[in-house]
Amino acid sequence: MLTKIITRMREHTNHCYLCQQPGSDAVCQVCRQTIAAFGSPEEDLDFLNVQPRFSRYLPKLSHLDTLCIGPHHGVLQRLISLLKYQYKMEIANCLSQLLLTRIQRCYANLPLPEALIPVPLHPLKRGRRGFNQTELIAQHLSSSLSVPVLTRLIQKRFVGKAQAGLDGRQRRLVSTRQYRVVQAQTLRQLNHVAILDDVITTGTTMRRLCDRLTEVNPGIKIDLWSLSVSLPHQ
Ligand SMILES: [Zn+2]
Repeated sequence: MLTKIITRMREHTNHCYLCQQPGSDAVCQVCRQTIAAFGSPEEDLDFLNVQPRFSRYLPKLSHLDTLCIGPHHGVLQRLISLLKYQYKMEIANCLSQLLLTRIQRCYANLPLPEALIPVPLHPLKRGRRGFNQTELIAQHLSSSLSVPVLTRLIQKRFVGKAQAGLDGRQRRLVSTRQYRVVQAQTLRQLNHVAILDDVITTGTTMRRLCDRLTEVNPGIKIDLWSLSVSLPHQ
């Protein structure tokens, strides 16, 4: 697996992954500018709450401060897919820069979180893929923001197959207990964290992680950072 990833990492031959134009960036400036990033008012941290189309669609998250680069379609969706499923890891740098710009604008007059928590993959899935895309993004952000990344604080316990053969009640139990806090002592010492994901779809993953964190530390402030958010159906 590692050999396969290294080979794929070396595939980048000074061409933009999207338009194939020669250049040293994995994504050229022209293609970056075609990303339909959010502008005002969706660039405000409370947009899930104040924008009715999102607050109706993502009620589980609407009370949390949230930021995203933009909606999950077009060029942004393609970049996330190239990173996640085709192992184009150089794209993590481009996506991190776009998210960093959004973070710096949103937190210009606000304190940054004390730690970043990338949404964990199950260890088996992480092993098969060879990396966790949210960890990669978090490491880029960490060095720019001087905020530590906590990759072992919380763990994913079950893979999808774990639900096979279970009845409805057991499935719900497995689903709600999908994540487990491993470093409770560290968590209790934190006042403010950000959970980082690549795409917010229904908000269920973020909600479950928030529930596990607040069970251990009820007073903690949790912000949500994501590369993209699925747009509600109009
Ligand atoms: Zn390009």
